[in-house]
Amino acid sequence: MLSEEMSVKKIAEAWNEKWELLCHGCGKCCYEKHFIPGGSLVIDYDKPCRFLEEESKRCTVYVNRFNACKECQKITLWTALFSRALPPDCGYVVKVRGAIKHPVKNIKSILSIRRSQR
Ligand code: SF4
Ligand code: SF4
Repeated sequence: MLSEEMSVKKIAEAWNEKWELLCHGCGKCCYEKHFIPGGSLVIDYDKPCRFLEEESKRCTVYVNRFNACKECQKITLWTALFSRALPPDCGYVVKVRGAIKHPVKNIKSILSIRRSQR
């Protein structure tokens, strides 16, 4: 039987795994961005992160990305909810901001992680 600490760790790992899967790899967060008056996001596709392989949209330093690139930031629940720097079709934005509109569905998704740990 798992100790409580192990269970929490497993749930956290499962959550992290599910969280990473929300990214559909469009690469849009890996370009320079700016905001036009009024606050709309503009992605400068002429200025990719130096670690982005543009054709595949793959990060060449993914595992070590936060050390390799000081501009690279982890996408948290907070940024998924409020960051203006993520495009509206980002997988995190769609899922998390959509979950606000469908809270019951979101809770079911969290519970399904817990059930899979039993
Ligand atoms: S380091 Fe970060 S911003 Fe740069 S390509 Fe990798 S994931 Fe994208
Ligand atoms: S914009 Fe969102 S979905 Fe696209 S690569 Fe970045 S994190 Fe993933």
